[in-house]
Amino acid sequence: ADGVPLVAKGKLTTCTHLPYPPFQFERDGEVVGFDVALIDRVAKDLGVRQEILDTPFENFKTGAFLNSGECDLAAAGMTITEERKKNVDFSVPYFDATQALLATAGSGIRSLAEVEAEKRKLGAQSGTTGESHVQEQGFDPVAFESSDAVLNGLRTGQVDAVVIDYPVVQGWLKDPANARAFRLGQSIETGEQYGFSVKKGNDALRAAIDKVIRESRADGDYERLHEEWIGP
Ligand code: GLN
Repeated sequence: ADGVPLVAKGKLTTCTHLPYPPFQFERDGEVVGFDVALIDRVAKDLGVRQEILDTPFENFKTGAFLNSGECDLAAAGMTITEERKKNVDFSVPYFDATQALLATAGSGIRSLAEVEAEKRKLGAQSGTTGESHVQEQGFDPVAFESSDAVLNGLRTGQVDAVVIDYPVVQGWLKDPANARAFRLGQSIETGEQYGFSVKKGNDALRAAIDKVIRESRADGDYERLHEEWIGP
């Protein structure tokens, strides 16, 4: 694969944490999504196919699965942060995200200020930037292991509101049952950007990923995939 060292012959092995729609999730027994499609193009460039492994989110911060040689890269709608940069190398940013407050319709909650004033229960996905953000604001959110668990916690009334990446909420609210049960509250402009990560020093693979991000933005593929997976 053109001087790009890979952990398994003929494959580009991607670690992710499922489900994280619309970036990676299972549909008809196959892992699909925006991140999956972009990395498929990297694999195609390298003349290999992408294989996706589901791993704990925590590993993306420590880089454990990259360092152990289990995966070539991590793709998980992952925000580039200074702290994570100490353990992994990131591609150029490929997506701008914000956080959103989503509450049960019955709660009437629209902001973190209301969560605090009314002593409501707040949830977040453990290890994520959404969780850190609310912790920095002095909250002690109930931690859920995945985006599915966050949604379920809200649905079953374990929490009154959650803070999670807006594109995930955007996807959930396309389901009419969710749109009836939940209410989108304040947008939290964290200015975060997603990046794919590789093992520290794996410049060859990082360059191959950066090339696909740049080229797909230039040739319209990025826009088409955005439309397909995320929306207009
Ligand atoms: N963007 C968030 C973060 O990096 C959430 C990512 C995820 O849960 N897959 O922490």
